[in-house]
Order: sequence, then C-alpha cells, then structure tokens
Amino acid sequence: MIPKECVRLYRKLSFKLSLKLSCKLRHLLSAYLFPLLRSVISIPHIPHRCALCDSKSPQRICEPCQQQFLYTPQYQCSVCALPLAHSALLCGGCLQKMPAYDRVYSPYLYQAPLSHLIMRFKQQGDFFAGQALADLWCEAIKKHMTQQHIPLPDMVTAIPLHWRKQGRRGFNQSAFFANVIHKKLNIPLFTDVKRTGSAPEQKHLDRKERMKNLKHGFTVTSPLNNLHVVIIDDVMTTGATVDAMTTALKKAGAGKVSAWVLARVPK
Ligand SMILES: [Zn+2]
Ligand SMILES: [Zn+2]
Repeated sequence: MIPKECVRLYRKLSFKLSLKLSCKLRHLLSAYLFPLLRSVISIPHIPHRCALCDSKSPQRICEPCQQQFLYTPQYQCSVCALPLAHSALLCGGCLQKMPAYDRVYSPYLYQAPLSHLIMRFKQQGDFFAGQALADLWCEAIKKHMTQQHIPLPDMVTAIPLHWRKQGRRGFNQSAFFANVIHKKLNIPLFTDVKRTGSAPEQKHLDRKERMKNLKHGFTVTSPLNNLHVVIIDDVMTTGATVDAMTTALKKAGAGKVSAWVLARVPK
C-alpha cells in the first residue's frame, strides 16, 4: 500500500516536470525546428499561438493582448522613467541623489498580464514567453529610436547574475534579452562584465540596502573608450543594480551609460 503523501508528492512533481518539458519543447519547436524545416523545404508559414491567450496569431503575442500592455504615463521622471503623479522633471529619488546612469527607457509598466509572462519566463524557463517578450521589446525600441531621432548606442550589455543564482535558474534572462536585441538591432554586445562578491537576495531590500549590497558588485575587464553603453534588464525596481553596474562601466571609461528596461515597477 503506497502512502497518500507519496502519491500526492509524485503527482505534484510529475505535473511540474511536464509543465517544464512542454515549455522547453514548445521553445525548441518554434525557435529551431520550424525555422530549420522552413529553410529546407518550402512549407507555408505556421502561425504562432499567442503566449498569453493561446489564440492563433502571426505574432507570438496577439494584437489584442499587446493592447493590454500599453501604458502612457502622463508624467515620468526624465532620468529613471518612474511614473509620476504630477508634472516634474525628476522624481524624489533622483532629486535626492542623481543616479550614475544617464537615462532609462522602459516601454512597459510592471503589471499584469505582462508581469505573468515575465515570471513564466524567469521562474518556469518558458522560452516561448521569453522570445515573445523579446520580439515585442525590440519593436518598441525601434519605434522609440525612430520617433525620437535617437541614434543607436555603441554597445549593449547584460547584467551578469551571481553564479549561484544562474546555476539555480539555469539561464540569465538579462543575457537572453541582450542577445536578441544585439542580433535584431545589430548593436555589438559587450560581455566583459563580471559579478564579484556575494550577492544575497535583493528582493526584500530597500534602495539603501541594495546599494550597500552592490557597492563592489561588478568588475569590467576591458576598456570602454568613451563609448555609449546600454544596460539591458527585464525589470527595474529601485534601479540600484543598474546604478552599481553603471559605476563600474564608467570606471572602465564608458562615456555614457543608459538602461533599456522591459518593465518599470511603479512606486
Ligand atoms: Zn493573445
Ligand atoms: Zn527618477
């Protein structure tokens, strides 16, 4: 007779495993197998299924779902992109202490349903959701750069994860996005940044504690002769990580450091 607890645990584990495997299989098919087949034999374009509502769509996220992500804050901090309740050039945090980075560009606010997709990618390794977000993000960047007449930066770079965290998750989401942006927008990728020292969980720390935690967190191993470097990250909460990495990049000679963030956490 098998104890009930064991059966319950087996069911829970097999459900988690099947979920992970189906995500990975979906990614393998859409990212590698279908493009390969399409290049070898002429097969009609297979429509994607929307990563959010599962309806058939030519894009990985269908148009109606994309509409749910849109937000146009009336007022925003001109440096850290924090949405503001009233018109002001800077938010309270930037007024108190100006961040090391020059500017943040973030097309979306960290809220449902976008936050669900980000978590699916980060926590369940759902690369279909990751690719869907990357496609959307690249389009938003292209549109923004053209509308604002902003030239592309010299390089993009990812925020390295602490090796222990990367080992647990199996991949670095920031590196994944930086790689897609590098390829789609044809911007060189800078990878000579290392995470040094221990990096305890940042989630529950406030801005001051995060800054202290990250003080000597990054080392840049090659010079950046006055170049404009853009840091790529998925979510920006207090901006402490981006700030610490900017300091390391500027120390290595970067002339300008901006950040492109997929979703900005409101206060
Ligand atoms: Zn949809
Ligand atoms: Zn600000």
